[in-house]
Amino acid sequence: PHYLMWFRRDLRLHDNTALTALCERAQSDNAKASALFFFTPEQWQSHDTSLAQVDHIARTLPKLAQSLTKQLNIPLTVYVCENFKDCNDLIIETYAAQNITQVMANHEYEGHEIVRDEQLIKRLAQHNIEFLRFHDQCILPPQSITTNDDSMYQVFTPFYKKWRHTLDIGLIESYQAQAVKDNKNSNQNTQDSNGLLELTQITASASSAETIKTLGEKVVKDYQLCLQDAGIVGSNESTTQLSHARAAYPAGEVAACHRLDQFIADGINNYNVSRDVPSLHATSQLSAYLTIGTISARHCYIQATKALQDNSDNKDINRWISELAWRDFYRHVLADKPALIRHQAYKDDMDKSINWSYNQDDFDAWCVGQTGVPLVDAAMRCLNATGFMHNRLRMVTAMFLTKDLLIDWRWGERYFMQQLIDGDFASNNGGWQWSASTGTDAAPYFRIMNPFSQAKSHDPDAEFIKTWLPELQELPANILHAEDKLRAALTTGSLFNLIDYPVPRVDHKAARLLAIAAFKN
Ligand code: FAD
Repeated sequence: PHYLMWFRRDLRLHDNTALTALCERAQSDNAKASALFFFTPEQWQSHDTSLAQVDHIARTLPKLAQSLTKQLNIPLTVYVCENFKDCNDLIIETYAAQNITQVMANHEYEGHEIVRDEQLIKRLAQHNIEFLRFHDQCILPPQSITTNDDSMYQVFTPFYKKWRHTLDIGLIESYQAQAVKDNKNSNQNTQDSNGLLELTQITASASSAETIKTLGEKVVKDYQLCLQDAGIVGSNESTTQLSHARAAYPAGEVAACHRLDQFIADGINNYNVSRDVPSLHATSQLSAYLTIGTISARHCYIQATKALQDNSDNKDINRWISELAWRDFYRHVLADKPALIRHQAYKDDMDKSINWSYNQDDFDAWCVGQTGVPLVDAAMRCLNATGFMHNRLRMVTAMFLTKDLLIDWRWGERYFMQQLIDGDFASNNGGWQWSASTGTDAAPYFRIMNPFSQAKSHDPDAEFIKTWLPELQELPANILHAEDKLRAALTTGSLFNLIDYPVPRVDHKAARLLAIAAFKN
């Protein structure tokens, strides 16, 4: 027998459910074991996957290949196939023809991914090959946390209580894959491009850490050009973003686990309060790793719970665990409502009743950070330059777009996906709909964040604002925190014409009333 591990958003050895199962079975059945990964540029572009994320994946794969061979004795082959259909064709045409007996992978919960897997199950069955999938992305799998009448929770808090209770009373294990001894891997599937080029769906393949690295670099370069041609990223901006992301996120699971350990040992202190202050960088910054699966959410939970052992009331750690639960929550919501992936709102009726704006000028000003609202602009410029935005600022910018400018949340959702290194459909869609009041938010639509008072509370010295808006360096925080004072300073005072910064695009108080009226209808 020959077992094949298909890596997707689970690029790690530690605590990987499918990989652990594959190793166990290969060992006990004396089977061969190999692994594959697909770069799927066309598919990714259609999902708005960001360049920074594709680059992060490309940087991670050589490390994965290296540790897979060294620690588990399993070779990894990486292919470039444009889309999911080509991936399935390749598996059937090469692997099925070569006596693979089982394919194993971890579940993905997005629409195209589900269709891809269901089609593959059927096609593999015709060759008597099993396709086994495991729940791995969440700490507790979708559909496991439900109300008494077995339906999905509509809001977070009761979900969280049940989620936490289930984990408190149950045993949650971490999986550790064991090396496959005597893995008599033939080279059939591990050769580089040439032997496979007659297959139309492959554009390239690689199977050593070195060739995977070279292939990855080429994929990233091509992807960048493709996004540039489509007008999605500019050449200078994307190059800046990549170099920032490379420095901020060293690739691989060793780096990710190290970040987790350091955060739990030290960084988490005061998280409950400092998590809302962007200039403090007080959050874990693990999302980029969680999104591509270089670190497991279960492992994060287990490590955080261990730290709770001597102090179960620790507010900081408990708060952080509840953030991990948000991640699970949005995945469970997606699995429960697959229509979300087709751009349908969670509260469809509410969404359809809003007369959303599609004003391109407003949207462009928001994207480039030129709305005249300092906290919003600083956050957007930070996103564009780094591929990351702090959680509080994601809420502020999303509310500003959907409530102050009344622009359809789908535009903002898409822009975030195109920029974020941690872009993840479930969390991003959940966050956007929460902000637009079409989602799972328990708060009423009229609770609209004021971006000026948000700045006053969460950026009291305007340190974050001034980092990203150097043109406002000379203005004191009390002006940056008050719309009327800022407007006056930019239009009438001695600074008039001296500062190259737009006056606020909308009057927040008036815009708020308009939004409330729109939602009330
Ligand atoms: P920490 O504060 O250290 O939290 C730890 C982990 O918990 C995060 O890495 C993340 O996996 C999870 N988490 C924290 N907050 C949330 C949340 N509100 N929803 C879901 N998971 C959460 N997160 C993404 O991973 N990808 C996205 O594409 C994404 N888009 C968002 C869009 C909007 C409009 C909003 C409001 C939030 C979005 N989030 C998204 C959630 C959150 O902003 C990020 O997860 C967080 O900022 C990542 O930073 P961190 O790793 O330092 O978080």
